[in-house]
Amino acid sequence: MSTYVLPELDYDYSALEPHLSARIVELHHSKHHQAYVDGSNQTLERLADARDHRDFSPLTGLEKSLAFHVSGHLLHSLYWRNLSPDGGGEPDGDLAEAIGEHFGDFPSFAAHMTAAVTSVQGSGWALLSWDTIGNRLIVEQAENHQDLSVRSARPLLAIDAWEHAYYLQYENRRADYATAIWNVIDWSDVADRFAAVK
Ligand code: FE
Repeated sequence: MSTYVLPELDYDYSALEPHLSARIVELHHSKHHQAYVDGSNQTLERLADARDHRDFSPLTGLEKSLAFHVSGHLLHSLYWRNLSPDGGGEPDGDLAEAIGEHFGDFPSFAAHMTAAVTSVQGSGWALLSWDTIGNRLIVEQAENHQDLSVRSARPLLAIDAWEHAYYLQYENRRADYATAIWNVIDWSDVADRFAAVK
């Protein structure tokens, strides 16, 4: 029984070119994201095994694996929907207003978010999230997929900063990827998530 399923993309692998090459998107979706889906399902099976045998000796590792793989699955599912060949520009409406209120203005937010992509240590993410306890937008950095997460925060926009997201095209120039990705961000998707979470 598979609980977690790889979502189809709404666009072709080549649709985000020239900002993201078809080969990157293909490998990223069909291999990397698939691996997090498979890892999530396998971890659930191993947890069921542990319960069946009343052998919880591997539990610490399995819970860590669950957090890693399910968080990876969630963030990649978000990332694909946050991107669109018709993306770019700036948000409008309530989301634009909230960005102005909580970050000063859009350029300040964009600079903060871009720096979060560029500077996350090791493999990780930059997230624009709605913090449900402070009722405000925040930028989070996530290491791996799950570390450094603000528990009260619901991610609205996820930018993958793992090397597999850019290295084939941008090599060591993560900052160039962090700049180019703004051309394909689908603000209508981010705005829909913002409306739903509020
Ligand atoms: Fe990734």
